[in-house]
Amino acid sequence: MSKAEQEKILLVEGTALTLLVERKGRVKNVNARLKGSVLRVSAPPGMREEDLAPVVEGLARKLLRRVHAKRVNEEGEALALARKIAARFPDPPSVRRVLFSTTQHSRWGSYSPHTDTVRLNAVLRSMPRWVLEAVVAHELAHAVHPDHSPAFWRLLRDVCPETDRARSFLAGVSWLAHHHAQLPPVEREILGMAEGAARKDRPDSR
Ligand SMILES: [Zn+2]
Repeated sequence: MSKAEQEKILLVEGTALTLLVERKGRVKNVNARLKGSVLRVSAPPGMREEDLAPVVEGLARKLLRRVHAKRVNEEGEALALARKIAARFPDPPSVRRVLFSTTQHSRWGSYSPHTDTVRLNAVLRSMPRWVLEAVVAHELAHAVHPDHSPAFWRLLRDVCPETDRARSFLAGVSWLAHHHAQLPPVEREILGMAEGAARKDRPDSR
């Protein structure tokens, strides 16, 4: 590290980045590159620290979102998984694409038999794999039964024995997503969700 570089930890949307700022004489604008969790910034030598900080934070947020969007749409792996689940059906539905959506707030997934596309709520990528599998199985089962009839559930439980466990899991996630803001502070703290506490406690509790 050269003398012109200062190293700091920057917290952006819950992600800790190592920030390396380099002051360069020939630099006119603030530039940032993100590699893993290291954010390298070059800035003009005369720029004041308090002017630089918000610019760096804005750039970091943009770069992090770009990385996240890319990861969320790496569909190759999800496509293989969806096809594996489709193959368990007596009459396998065809799957051509799996898309993760960050705009699909109200649903966990959907399947279009016209385009052979499975759409999944991006949040599912952060959940245990068996939950994601159960959602895929559920949506594919609608290719056979569009409703939630007893025949639908029979088929689905056959194809995916984790069905009921996954439904309970997702019901718990939905409940917490809708209610955590109204929970009294003590209850939030018990759940490790109090402001700041969640971040600070994480390294110790694992
Ligand atoms: Zn359904």
